[in-house]
Amino acid sequence: MPTGNHLIAGTWVAGDETFKSDPIQGTSHAYSVGTPAHVDAAVEAAEAAFWSFGFSTRKQRAVFLNTIADEIEARAEEITKIGCQESGLPEARLQGERGRTVGQLRLFADHILQGNYLDARHDKALPDRAPLPRPDLKLFQRPVGPVAVFGASNFPLAFSTAGGDTAAALAAGCPVVVKGHSAHPGTGEIVAEAIDAAIVKCGIHPGVFSLVQGGKRDVGTRLVQHTLIKAVGFTGSLAGGRALFDLCAQRPEPIPFFGELGSVNPMFLLPAAARARGAEIGCGWAGSLTMGAGQFCTKPGIAVVLKNQAAAFVSATQEALSQVGAQTMLTDGIAQAYRAGQTRIASGAGVQDLLTSSCDQRNATPYLYQTTASDWLGNPALGEEVFGPLGLVVVADDLDQMHQVARALQGQLTCTIHMDDGDIEAARTLMPILERKAGRILANGFPTGVEVADTMVHGGPYPASTNFGATSVGTLSIRRFLRPVCYQNIPNEILPAN
Ligand code: NAP
Repeated sequence: MPTGNHLIAGTWVAGDETFKSDPIQGTSHAYSVGTPAHVDAAVEAAEAAFWSFGFSTRKQRAVFLNTIADEIEARAEEITKIGCQESGLPEARLQGERGRTVGQLRLFADHILQGNYLDARHDKALPDRAPLPRPDLKLFQRPVGPVAVFGASNFPLAFSTAGGDTAAALAAGCPVVVKGHSAHPGTGEIVAEAIDAAIVKCGIHPGVFSLVQGGKRDVGTRLVQHTLIKAVGFTGSLAGGRALFDLCAQRPEPIPFFGELGSVNPMFLLPAAARARGAEIGCGWAGSLTMGAGQFCTKPGIAVVLKNQAAAFVSATQEALSQVGAQTMLTDGIAQAYRAGQTRIASGAGVQDLLTSSCDQRNATPYLYQTTASDWLGNPALGEEVFGPLGLVVVADDLDQMHQVARALQGQLTCTIHMDDGDIEAARTLMPILERKAGRILANGFPTGVEVADTMVHGGPYPASTNFGATSVGTLSIRRFLRPVCYQNIPNEILPAN
């Protein structure tokens, strides 16, 4: 049974007001509404903790990250149970996501122990250099200070309380204040309890981690505006993310806001592949489009195909999607946004229904639409994300028109090319355009399923992310919470611990 309280620097703190959780099954619980005062207490404790944690050794932080992973595993059943109730996601998904979450923590532990992330450089002193001697110069990456993390609705574990942003920030040496997502406060509370247990076991300053539950918008706004917060990690809507990004930029001391906002993840079917494997690609697309009710940031929402090669692909997609039943969406708000997005696409000039259906409020069934490249190019709203199992086929007259569609895209997390040997030349001309649009380009696959690895980039030009130089998945994501410092003629004895 959850306490319903905030975890602020090792203490469970209640508030004056409560909100009720809205689980799809099981009992609703009351949770304390977060306030700016809770945020202030958490951030001040984080700053106090930075003076020790920010100067801890990599080994100490690696032990801490592995202990958090152990404590999450120790609460596995509890986390899966409440996670399924709150999100409506199936048990296997919660179990898989827990595996990914502890895997990320352990990966970061190994990564910091290797030390490459410090990007350590040394220009040795040249006292005899003429006309001027060179001083001894050392550079390495240092943690930025307290970091704010907004838990994502669609990944209650892997992108939430102890998710990728938190793991990267703690690995870097930054204390974290999480603004819990109101869609899964109970899941957040148990994971926070696991982090707190690890803090106690490792003898770390309790201000290193706090969880302030949601409730009202003033929690998020206070958090990003607090002068002691030095960077923000966010996954969510374009509107919410943009509002918080603007607040970060308007601060007297602007700070980086690493927001992962929206992406339609287009797929381009090149002629030989579409001719030879159109039906197979259509079936694969239907699976990727409807996985997790289409509530993945990497859901491929648009398929661009040439007019003469579209038939087999489209009919196989239609057939496969018609077999997919209703799936539960994460929240009423997300279900409502899905319906609004569906209406926006359906009402576009030149948009044709290929599959429509209806179901009750919190459920979603797939929709498939088709339009021509000319109509798509004339209506930018058709290029915006619809979060849920909706696909749009864009039919181009020829490769030139396919390129025009590619050039007109906004920034994307991913772009996919379906190609066979006969498509090499067509793919070669498409690649430079896609490379300017996306953080990850795939051939012959589907972008859902993001590997947590050294080489992963989960980011891209705006609005895929607010910072195209960064990734929110993989070991490179630690760089978001570090800044380079140059030490000139500083004796080794007083350099920070590494
Ligand atoms: P959201 O509405 O952007 O909320 C995300 C977090 O930011 C929540 O904690 C929310 O607080 C906070 N927030 C949002 N706007 C704010 C503002 N103006 N001021 C202060 N705090 C603010 O996203 P969501 O609830 O997760 O999902 C809604 C939509 O986001 C979906 O329909 C989908 O379009 C999109 N989404 C995209 C991705 C992706 O990966 N690209 C992932 C998830 C969701 P409250 O809880 O208090 O509202």
